[in-house]
Amino acid sequence: MEIPFNKPYQTGNELSYIAEAAKSGQLSGNGIFTNRCNRLFKERFGFRNCYLTTSCTDALEMSAILIGIKPGDEVIVPSFTFVSTALAFYREGAKIVFSDSRPDHPGLDENKLEFLITTKTKAIVVVHYAGVACDMDIVTKLADKYNLWVVEDAAHSLDSYYNGKPLGSIGHLGCFSFHETKNLHCGEGGMLVVNDSRFIERSEIIHEKGTNKSSFGRKEVNHYEWVDTGSSFLPSELNAAYLYAQLEQIDEIQKKRKRIWHHYYSGLEKLAEKGQIGLPYIPEYASNNASFFYIICKSEDERSNIISYLKSNNIQAVFHYRCLHKSKFILNTGNAALFHLINAENYQNRLLRIPFFTELTFSENQYVIKTLNSYFNKSNIR
Ligand SMILES: *Cc1c(COP(=O)(O)O)cnc(C)c1O
Repeated sequence: MEIPFNKPYQTGNELSYIAEAAKSGQLSGNGIFTNRCNRLFKERFGFRNCYLTTSCTDALEMSAILIGIKPGDEVIVPSFTFVSTALAFYREGAKIVFSDSRPDHPGLDENKLEFLITTKTKAIVVVHYAGVACDMDIVTKLADKYNLWVVEDAAHSLDSYYNGKPLGSIGHLGCFSFHETKNLHCGEGGMLVVNDSRFIERSEIIHEKGTNKSSFGRKEVNHYEWVDTGSSFLPSELNAAYLYAQLEQIDEIQKKRKRIWHHYYSGLEKLAEKGQIGLPYIPEYASNNASFFYIICKSEDERSNIISYLKSNNIQAVFHYRCLHKSKFILNTGNAALFHLINAENYQNRLLRIPFFTELTFSENQYVIKTLNSYFNKSNIR
């Protein structure tokens, strides 16, 4: 048995929808499949305004433009996240202020946020790590108190909730990813959800290369032209058609993923009870959308040993993220991060992701669990 870390899922309808898109006569963006996706997102999650993009990175870049980031502004971003969470704001000139993770969870530590706020702070970007919500009451209260924007990097968070509210619908803006490693995907894809109605008018302009082409499409103006900044953020109908096939089957996909997640959790619980590994923690206010599964190893060395052991048993396991505050790029900008973010660095060194994808079979699931258990049984004997 050979188990990859990820396998992009297909429901079976993707190719026929792509063919339908091709026949429709419009393959550029904002066509029938984009509209169908938007409708389902709105119906299911109550998202008021959705803009499909070619990535979550795009959605974050749109957010940085919309909230008007200017050189000198500070933006608070967790260090333990993907590059784009910070890069999108850096590109507009922001100074990135890195926050630590929680001790009990890789998400940002809401209780350490207030110390990072200065008169220059413009926004807080939260990442709901592994689809597990940040404590949004704390974040929202701080944002209100200091007059800050809240952007949710909801790349892991489709169909996950904070006290029953869909993630991505709580901050002023929400950013999703449909990269092939996420719960639903179309290869590369993303979406900006605009929750604050003040942004709606500019969103559709920025989305369409700085033009008022959307108003033109609604026949509100008799020609369209360059009216603002922006870029080509919208995906083609080919991507939207693929995504629509996935979105139609979100319930089946989520059911499968949750089953795999719980199987991992119960199969590894004994190791956690013996203190050999740590398992994901989900606070009461958060839901679990089974975005991926990770374990916390005792040390960086042990993590390397586990990866090798799994590899020798044909199981691919990977780790992420390298803390952004210690990245080569940030150090080179002179924005030197001489400080320690103890929890974030801890997750950088000890977190391990094990194979997780929608079509992981029961026996593959079982085999990974068995192999991990046998690693620890062996090391006990040694
Ligand atoms: C995957 C990911 C992104 C980037 O998503 P793309 O769609 O690949 O641009 C951003 N933030 C987080 C937390 C991610 O996991």
